[in-house]
Amino acid sequence: MRIQRLPSQLINQIAAGEVVERPASVAKELMENALDAGARNLEVDVEQGGKRLIRIRDDGTGIHKGDLALALRRHTTSKISSLEDLEQVVSLGFRGEALPSIASISRLTISSRARDADQGWSVQAGGRDDVSDPIPVAQAVGTSVAVYDLFFNTPARRKFLRADATEFKHIDGLIRRIALSHFSVAIHLRHNQKTIHRLPVAEGVTQQEKRVAALCGTPFMAQALPVERAVSGLSLEGWIGLPTFSRSQSDLQFFFVNGRMVRDKLLSHAVRQAYADVLVHGRQPAFVLYLELDPTAVDVNVHPAKHEVRF
Ligand code: ADP
Ligand code: MG
Repeated sequence: MRIQRLPSQLINQIAAGEVVERPASVAKELMENALDAGARNLEVDVEQGGKRLIRIRDDGTGIHKGDLALALRRHTTSKISSLEDLEQVVSLGFRGEALPSIASISRLTISSRARDADQGWSVQAGGRDDVSDPIPVAQAVGTSVAVYDLFFNTPARRKFLRADATEFKHIDGLIRRIALSHFSVAIHLRHNQKTIHRLPVAEGVTQQEKRVAALCGTPFMAQALPVERAVSGLSLEGWIGLPTFSRSQSDLQFFFVNGRMVRDKLLSHAVRQAYADVLVHGRQPAFVLYLELDPTAVDVNVHPAKHEVRF
């Protein structure tokens, strides 16, 4: 066999293999894009566990008509333009891969109106290479991305989807993590037209604690201590559950590094050690912690879905 260049559709589907594991991965990428666009209000609509539809509407900066098709191309991004930018990236996205990957395995529509535009525009893509020409749509400033029929053209992957309820649970978990790390953003999540969370903007400690209680349960908040420490360029804030509130599962453990939810061995080990003397073996602590440090001290370009970081 001679060497040949893969069709770009297939390249995108291969990339989707890393970035899109299930509907929740789509929700993650779309939410991160909305947050990067400075959204203050997010409307999330999910149908059939995200298999039928995931739609996120934001009131962020919007996308210019001329950029809509570009947003769906591979390696196109407005977030970085040099290695220097990459090394100190503060946006949640930067790879320019999410939208083309998702579009290669679903039917995707983006409608958007940029701040300075007097009109919204919409393009469609899905399962093929070409993006439709923009058509005018009624749209407030901001962006709405709808992803229908995930994996419709990749049956082998569709087979691995779980029941709607299970897939929705993953989306709900994702929305919780986003909500815990973006107090200044209002979030409304609906599943099959039913409201699951309606979280108003949480300014100030009292409202933040109210949001944490809504997401992690009132018992956690009632038995948590606030943390606020800053040493040598590192700042750690959040809430740690008292040892009496320990759990059998690690389901109430949230660690954010510079606003990004991460699963990091170093960090979980540090927390486990901190609790070592007060927790019975096998019990899991509950915590919501935010570590802030110089972005150049963290490498976020470790994993395509950015679940991991390197210090
Ligand atoms: P990345 O987020 O890594 O840049 P994506 O494929 O997720 O790559 O998105 C490509 C580009 O599309 C982004 O850089 C951004 O300019 C634009 N974009 C995507 N979603 C939104 C949104 N909700 N609001 C504004 N711009 C968006
Ligand atoms: Mg992105």
